[in-house]
Amino acid sequence: MSRCAVVTGGQSGIGRRLVTALAQNGFRVAFSDRSLSDAVQTLESNAESHGGAIRGFPCDVGVGQDVDRFYQAAADWFGTAPDVLINNAGTQSWSSLLELDEDSWDSVIRTNLKGCFLNTKAAARLMIDAGKPGSIINIGSGCNKLAFPKLVDYTASKGGVEQFTKVAAVELGPYGIRVNCVAPGAIATERTSGEAAGYSEKWAKITPLRRVGTPDDIVGPVMFLTSESSSFVTGQTLWVDGGVFSQA
Ligand code: NDP
Repeated sequence: MSRCAVVTGGQSGIGRRLVTALAQNGFRVAFSDRSLSDAVQTLESNAESHGGAIRGFPCDVGVGQDVDRFYQAAADWFGTAPDVLINNAGTQSWSSLLELDEDSWDSVIRTNLKGCFLNTKAAARLMIDAGKPGSIINIGSGCNKLAFPKLVDYTASKGGVEQFTKVAAVELGPYGIRVNCVAPGAIATERTSGEAAGYSEKWAKITPLRRVGTPDDIVGPVMFLTSESSSFVTGQTLWVDGGVFSQA
């Protein structure tokens, strides 16, 4: 029987690449996003040619009722509990501390940190009820290692995700559920394309591997953490940043 994976924020960027990679490896993949575009049909139909399956579901990761509905629908579609959850959905506001308003702060913390909590809890409950071991992977950020201006909300949320990962690993380990964090460096995606011109060149210059990352660079580390090869790895953060944050 195929393994089943949930990916949050799977419609663009790193999430979309992970959805495709999992399907190419034979997974049935249920992904969530705030609202689904027409591109989802292409994603869903391409998956069948790889032996996997993809289904998109509208869900705001930071809203408990949405998340409950999503897991109910995903589990019905899978016919079982998920084996893997990837907490990928993320956002930021790009405001300095003194400019940042309360709503923006709440929105970033709600999506990045509360979303991670709600999805982890929902997926873990299904895994435990089904007596299944599982792997939960939280997408953190290299920004935890350095202080970046205009990212105070984002950095606080991703620092929380890293610490959340450790406690969740301790609490869920006895059920055979592993929880790890993958922390990317600068990755060229839809999100970063909105940044100032020269983003990729700037990061390539200061990264030891002399290039900016792509969503493809996140696939191998995530697939490793979903696999038996990492069966004794939990509570860890895997930095996937071309070495840029090791130079502080
Ligand atoms: P993208 O913006 O390209 O993709 C994020 C996806 O998450 C979008 O489809 C977005 O939908 C969705 N999303 C946002 N908020 C919610 C929500 N409340 N509920 C459901 N879905 C939501 O970002 P990236 O691919 O670049 O980033 C993916 C992850 O990687 C994030 O957690 C990010 O913080 C992390 N990361 C990225 C780095 C990079 O350089 N790209 C570096 C370090 C970490 P919508 O389009 O509607 O907003």
